Amino acid sequence: MAGIYIHIPFCRQACHYCDFHFSTNLKTQNEMVEAIAQEIIDRKEYLGESIQTIYFGGGTPSILSSAQLMLLLDAVRENHTIDSDAEITLEANPEDLIHSKTVELFELGINRLSIGIQTFNESKLMWMNRVHNSNESINAFENARTAGFQNISLDLIYAIPDHSNERWEADLKAITDLDPEHISLYGLTIEDKTVFHKWEQQKKLVQVPEDEAAGQYLFAIDFLKSRGYVQYEVSNFGKEGFHSRHNNAYWSGVPYLGVGPGAHSFDGQSRRFNVRNNSKYLKAIHDSNSYHKTELLSRIQRINEQILTQLRTAKGLNLSVPQNAMGVNLEELHADFILEISERQLAEIKNGFLSLKPKGFLVADEIALRLFF
Ligand code: SF4
Repeated sequence: MAGIYIHIPFCRQACHYCDFHFSTNLKTQNEMVEAIAQEIIDRKEYLGESIQTIYFGGGTPSILSSAQLMLLLDAVRENHTIDSDAEITLEANPEDLIHSKTVELFELGINRLSIGIQTFNESKLMWMNRVHNSNESINAFENARTAGFQNISLDLIYAIPDHSNERWEADLKAITDLDPEHISLYGLTIEDKTVFHKWEQQKKLVQVPEDEAAGQYLFAIDFLKSRGYVQYEVSNFGKEGFHSRHNNAYWSGVPYLGVGPGAHSFDGQSRRFNVRNNSKYLKAIHDSNSYHKTELLSRIQRINEQILTQLRTAKGLNLSVPQNAMGVNLEELHADFILEISERQLAEIKNGFLSLKPKGFLVADEIALRLFF
């Protein structure tokens, strides 16, 4: 069992909050697609197992033409063994999903779309420097459905400054009215080197207070539950049978090959990080030079990663995993802390798993840190 992540490092314009790796210079798009296809070929031995999930992330993968996507999919299909029921996801922005494009994407064999809606509020979309408007979001979703997509995920952002709780509820209502199979929620965070960071320093932007952001998150959990969405991870909610297989594989420590500038790979023992720079990546592929760094993970690092990722899932941390790997009973070692978080209604132990409750998800990373070896 393994997955492939393909990073498409282009966007039409930079959203003011985003610190992902992308360029708005689209001139090298063709060259980049060829280089990524070359990396897929060069690294065909990396996994040595059949592929169950393929994920086009970015950046904005839907910026690519169908011919460019086909070239990449052909490279994957010709050089790796793909399961017949593989989940093939493409991240898309609403402005790209016109009817003909959604039909082409479906015909290419892409069977899951993850659409960046973020909010239905026009002024906030503009404020965040998103390209699309709210009508385009609705059209994109409807086009995808008409084209045949039966597995669609939509992204929303909460904790947007000056976006009242009522507006947040309106966003949740609008998104669930569309009836997608999956919804991801992200709290707006201010990242270094973004326009929002600059605005914050200039006192033009004030972040939503933590308790208000937490309130919106907890409200969303209840709201989505009432609409039939099961929370299976901190940020992810799906109808039964529609949890992201690609993300689940990441959280379970399954190996994956990541191609493209800025992509990471994991072979079960080490992580590999591709250079986060389009020109350096292109030149290195062209000259057959190295374009990555590798970090060999120690046993302790691998166990700590599992503690962190498993705690973020609704199923929780399988307490026997660290016990078997380290010969230490985590439940005994941290008995006082586990009792404290249980009494504070942040977590519970059930059938050998330590699982976080909604309030615990808000501090999942802090709890994980306390349990690290
Ligand atoms: S479209 Fe996505 S990747 Fe591109 S800048 Fe906006 S949030 Fe970032």
